[in-house]
Amino acid sequence: MDPETFRRFGHEAVDWVADYLQGVERYPVLSPLFPGEVCGKIPANFPQTGESMEAILKDFREIILPGITHWNHPRFFAYFPANNSGPSILAELLSAGLGVNAMLWQTSPAATELEEAVMDWLRQMLGLPEGFRGVIQDTASTATLCALLCAREQLSQFQINAEGLSSWCERGALRVYASQEAHSSVEKGVKIAGLGARNLVPISVDDAYGLDPEDLERRVREDRERGFLPCCVVATVGTTSSTALDPLQPIGEIARRHGLWFHVDAALAGSAAILPEMRWILEGIEQADSLVFNPHKWLFTNFDCSAFFCRHPQTLTATFSILPEYLKTDLDRQVTNFRDWGIQLGRRFRALKLWFVLRYYGLDGLQERLREHLSLAQEFKGWIEESADFEALAPVPLNTICFRFNPRKGASQAALSPEDLEGLNKAILDEVNRSGRIFITHTRLKGTFCLRLCIGQTQTRREHVLQAWEALRGSRVVQEWR
Ligand code: PLP
Repeated sequence: MDPETFRRFGHEAVDWVADYLQGVERYPVLSPLFPGEVCGKIPANFPQTGESMEAILKDFREIILPGITHWNHPRFFAYFPANNSGPSILAELLSAGLGVNAMLWQTSPAATELEEAVMDWLRQMLGLPEGFRGVIQDTASTATLCALLCAREQLSQFQINAEGLSSWCERGALRVYASQEAHSSVEKGVKIAGLGARNLVPISVDDAYGLDPEDLERRVREDRERGFLPCCVVATVGTTSSTALDPLQPIGEIARRHGLWFHVDAALAGSAAILPEMRWILEGIEQADSLVFNPHKWLFTNFDCSAFFCRHPQTLTATFSILPEYLKTDLDRQVTNFRDWGIQLGRRFRALKLWFVLRYYGLDGLQERLREHLSLAQEFKGWIEESADFEALAPVPLNTICFRFNPRKGASQAALSPEDLEGLNKAILDEVNRSGRIFITHTRLKGTFCLRLCIGQTQTRREHVLQAWEALRGSRVVQEWR
């Protein structure tokens, strides 16, 4: 593509994105397509000869767009936010234009040095201790895997890296501890690290769904007595289901007493710590060995961008370092080479979008948006509590509400069975999502089926949360019970 053609279509694409963001509310939030509909429109045979950009963009609009679930929609309340923003999108465009591979300092000094600088800005914004050094990973899953591998290597003194897991068998299985509410990425990481899913020990949770430190202490002691080797504990700050908060202080003390690597998964909730009034969610973080949180979830930065902080970069690099001749440079002793800080060799220039976002909004602007989301969550919870037939099913410390429709809430008639309640709430979920007006998801807490609404999109305002509440209350299922 010659530069003039690129310029023409580049302008068209930027105009399209601007119009899209401005008018995103006209789309159904959840794509209404059935499985196979997109595939059915894509030729089975690859293009032998090149096609015009006009034809490609036409198909983008006609084939791809209907199959998009609009994560940027202000009434997207599902899963967790994957928000973005103007400055972030522009930085992604520039980064794509530069085509940088940030694997070594030499392969783009600016990419490495900017990453070091913005990660330290984030460290300060979250109030993390000075000893933490940051690196950007693609996702929290990867960051947690890195933490697990560091834990494994620290315990085995790098023997597993050198000799393989089979050399370790007779010494006993390495054990990892995380609450029953921990994210599935912990189990995935345990499997990939070769530790075995059975060696992930689920720790019970309290009534607020936070990890119970007494159970942790007991399980670690029992494991030692049985010949297992306690290796790592993963605490979650903001669980996926209900943003429950594991207590870092007592978990850290247990980790220190038993020599465990202490990793904190704050994928969604970590962003909230930029608010002085929310810093308490990371109380006890001084004792952690590593922490991950995702600016791509709740800091207006395009997917993907996971901030991984580690107190022992030397353990990280000793775990991941490889040095084939072709990657050696004369400056290796003087500079940071992020290829040694994780799994990938090639790395995207993600620091650029973070830099644009942090500078464009400033801490004040970011805090203002997050405060609004937190206060909207409290308001929504209030509507639930005040209503005659909806009830909250978990505390709401942050931006996520777990709730259900219960027409017999507080009533003198016999309660509905858990199965009936689940059926009603599934029907509501299907109905509101199919309407295209909102998209929410579900979860289960201690076996109970919950509707789940998470507020964190860049463009979500009070009117959108109100519209969600109206969609739920106005659903056919709810109306039939009234
Ligand atoms: N940890 C928690 C607590 C999460 O909620 C999630 C996402 O839902 C993850 C980890 C995984 O995040 P990622 O998609 O960045 O791997």
